[in-house]
Amino acid sequence: MDKTYDIGLGNIDVNLRKKADSDFVSFWDDEAKNLSWFSHWEKTLDWHPPFAKWFVGGTINASYNALDVHQKTKSGKSAILWEGEDGESRVITYGEMLSQVKKFSNVLKSLGVKKGDRVTIYLPMVPELPIAMLACARIGATHTVIFSGFSAASIKDRIIDSHSKVVVTANGGYRRGKIVKLKEVIDEAIKDVNFVKHVVVLERTKNEISISSKDKLWSDLMNNVSDSCDAEKLDSAHPLYILYTSGTTGKPKGVLHGTGGYLTHLYSTFKWAFDIKDSDIFFCTADIGWVTGHSYVVYAPLLHGATQVMYEGAPDFPDASRMWSILQKYHVTIFYTTPTALRMFMKFGDNIPNSFDLSSLRLLGTVGEPINPEVWKWYFKTIGKEKCPIIDTWWQTETGGMLISPLPGLETIPLKPGSGTRPIPGVHISVVDENGDDVSPNTKGYLVVKNPWPGMLLTLWNDDEKYKTVYWSKYEHCYYPGDYALKDDDGYFWLLGRTDDILKVAGHRIGTAELESCIVSHSDVAESAVCGIPDDVKGEVIIAFVVLKQGLSDSKILEKEISDKIRNDIAAIATPKQIYFVSKLPKTRSGKIMRRLLKGIANNEKIGDVSTLEDGAAVTEVQSAVDYIQKSIKETSG
Ligand code: ATP
Ligand code: MG
Repeated sequence: MDKTYDIGLGNIDVNLRKKADSDFVSFWDDEAKNLSWFSHWEKTLDWHPPFAKWFVGGTINASYNALDVHQKTKSGKSAILWEGEDGESRVITYGEMLSQVKKFSNVLKSLGVKKGDRVTIYLPMVPELPIAMLACARIGATHTVIFSGFSAASIKDRIIDSHSKVVVTANGGYRRGKIVKLKEVIDEAIKDVNFVKHVVVLERTKNEISISSKDKLWSDLMNNVSDSCDAEKLDSAHPLYILYTSGTTGKPKGVLHGTGGYLTHLYSTFKWAFDIKDSDIFFCTADIGWVTGHSYVVYAPLLHGATQVMYEGAPDFPDASRMWSILQKYHVTIFYTTPTALRMFMKFGDNIPNSFDLSSLRLLGTVGEPINPEVWKWYFKTIGKEKCPIIDTWWQTETGGMLISPLPGLETIPLKPGSGTRPIPGVHISVVDENGDDVSPNTKGYLVVKNPWPGMLLTLWNDDEKYKTVYWSKYEHCYYPGDYALKDDDGYFWLLGRTDDILKVAGHRIGTAELESCIVSHSDVAESAVCGIPDDVKGEVIIAFVVLKQGLSDSKILEKEISDKIRNDIAAIATPKQIYFVSKLPKTRSGKIMRRLLKGIANNEKIGDVSTLEDGAAVTEVQSAVDYIQKSIKETSG
């Protein structure tokens, strides 16, 4: 394994781990007391596998905990430092946030939204997006946010699935300097959906929109309501939101999250992982359309009364320096992003970040995919100047919050590039074999969670059966995330990719993540994806797709170097049968590589039309990557 990095903050609280190990239920009971409850719970955990209810009988409100609780001491403190893609900026204090949220709660009520109703939100990354979500939470409506890059067809499916009578959108949003006409997309999505009664339209851009009888302007509605609205006292398990997963492994699933348990999980993990202080400037680059944005842009920072930067647009617009210029401008202290984004920044070269003052940074985080050690080291050296711990957080839409992560706010442990280190306290995670038995150290196996945790999904929306089958049927009473992992001699976890991405070559199981990581560790390589194609002799042979760093071109020598590297670092058996050099890879809108699609292409399946993919809006990008790759394959083999 890689060398370790002794970077921690030294706030060791060994008692917390001990307490969690001896009784996870009473441990979480104590953690829940960090929040403000209207009434205390009677039972900490009601566990009827696989359904868990946390803090039963307690009543709580997410918007109250995010805003009202801070008013005495922090009403003038900045909650959101917003940076528009076009250079516009806004500062919203905790006081203003609360007043806007109360008003929008009254707007929703005036449109007939009641406790338990679903509201679909399709907005760009503007402050009105968290405002709308918190307003739903305030009155007990369940929000269902759809990433503003999705197409009409995907939105229609989600609106029908959640049966939302009210949709909140904007006339447009900025993306790479262009206006995306969101309202037009909604018009198309709901044209045959009669139960949608109202569409609220925020005017973010200058484009004209056609107004039908269902449409109401955000500004008109807000001008006509009062700014007093008490937060509803909701049951701890009250559904806070439905969010669809990224769809990396197939059709997205409607994950349903509750309130009291979810907020407890976020409050504690945000404190442990990011060691949040009143003076910090936090910046998470995730779009609120994904779970990272729900949990660590909207809820966790606000629960802590933190100040955060929220950025509207593309990370490389108008040029490759945008991210670093935002970090410098706002003196960001904690930066949380994805391996995909980091690989892109790395591809642009070191001169760009080196020309900015990033000295305010004290912690760096990643989420979403395994981070290759090479990229980890680049992040550590070039961005963190070797003084910021890297918080590699493993979790899923379904888990609600982080489950495996270094926790510098809690304890100092050496970091290993590419490992998420250990599970958070109060969660028992193992690596097991097909039979569910723990494997020995350094052996690959399936990751499982052996006890319920507070951020856990309640179920899949309207589909308890699917919830049981997808997550709880492989092993009895164990949650099955569908990820492949190993635990090393020090008890550190290494995430090795998804179980359905595993390559099986001549009886050996090889994780896509470790292979890709090895390829990316070649100094010329920016990104890589591997997949398997059937082979009569070996079962499967490996095909690798490689994107080079900017300005470099492929060669036979380079191809050999990559193959040799795999042979040396992993095994001869893992050497790809073919390496294709391509300019880009097909990705989901959340930035994850679509290995299934690559597999289809490599297997010569007809991938003429990618519009059947759930992720409709990315179709043109994915299609152009597919066309390019198909062309390169033909050229290489012909
Ligand atoms: P779908 O479930 O629809 O296929 P998805 O799994 O991509 O979509 P998310 O919930 O956004 O949807 O992603 C969670 C997955 O992302 C995890 O199961 C894991 O495979 C991967 N992941 C997240 N964080 C990390 C990390 N730090 N290291 C390794 N993998 C990670
Ligand atoms: Mg998943």
